[in-house]
Amino acid sequence: MNATTAETAVVPDDLIEVAPDILRLRLPMDEGIDHVNLYLVRDGAGWLLFDTGVDTAHARACWERLLAGPLAGGLTRIVVSHHHPDHLGLARWLRERTGAVVYLRPEERHSAEQTALPTPKAMDACRHYFEHHGMPADDASTIASDLLRRFMACDTGFQSQSLEHGEVLHVGRYRFQVLVQGGHSVAQFCLHEPQAGLLLTGDQLLERITPNLSLLPWGDRHPLRHYLASLEQTAALDLRCVLPAHHEVYAGGVARARGLIHHHERALEKFRARLLPGMKGMDVATAVYGRRRDVLDRFLALTESLAHLQYLQEQAEVRCDADARWYPLPHTVSSTGALPASLHLA
Ligand SMILES: [Zn+2]
Repeated sequence: MNATTAETAVVPDDLIEVAPDILRLRLPMDEGIDHVNLYLVRDGAGWLLFDTGVDTAHARACWERLLAGPLAGGLTRIVVSHHHPDHLGLARWLRERTGAVVYLRPEERHSAEQTALPTPKAMDACRHYFEHHGMPADDASTIASDLLRRFMACDTGFQSQSLEHGEVLHVGRYRFQVLVQGGHSVAQFCLHEPQAGLLLTGDQLLERITPNLSLLPWGDRHPLRHYLASLEQTAALDLRCVLPAHHEVYAGGVARARGLIHHHERALEKFRARLLPGMKGMDVATAVYGRRRDVLDRFLALTESLAHLQYLQEQAEVRCDADARWYPLPHTVSSTGALPASLHLA
């Protein structure tokens, strides 16, 4: 399947056919990347929806138009890849609007609930986590009292079902194999169609940006280890066409998976090179990613740094003391890093 020539038949609301019986719906976003891609797979008279979009008045109005027009057959099933708002945001509303069954991993539901910091105790623990890792007190307060709720919170007040890794979903002409992959979030669904070489990948395998890996007080306890394992798993698949949550449908998914492994190997080199004895996580983040002006960027830089430092700790290359200060271990080989690494909210 040719990933570029397939994208031709443009219809209103940025709904295009990207593969036989598969539509891509692109919705705008205000924060970070300016759009998210959702996918619809023909499922009998209706459609299976993969991811739902951020819950905004504009997105709801768009869905109302589509459900009254080109998607009048309705939604049969909704697969929510993971708990971030551009994926989970409209799940409850769409479920109530269409009656579709929603598939969401319990780990992802739990992450969404934790991210919302539902109690004062949870907010305090969150603030303490970021201060403990060297973030200034006002940044830690902003994250705990505002940023996470504003950027990450989703409505999870609905019933859902789960899917298991390796399970097969029959959807119209397709037989999707369910993958459950960690790293970017704790248990992200991807759907692989071996015969067509298709992969609905959520944020797990993006072409132009590297998905954020965060070590947080909740979610994946070993994000980089799990992400690298998922890339090895993905690189072994037949991937002729990747349908990602951001940017364009693309070919070359195996090469991209290998490229992302290489990206993190180079990032680890920077951490080895720039870690000085006694640094806190925030010091390391500044040394690797540069000084960031925006609190969201500092949040991403710190949590991504902690994910990489933890990986080096698991390889016995660094250690962390009770005061959250990091130290290279004697056999660590230093090398010179290049430019500051890049950060993306995906
Ligand atoms: Zn995400």
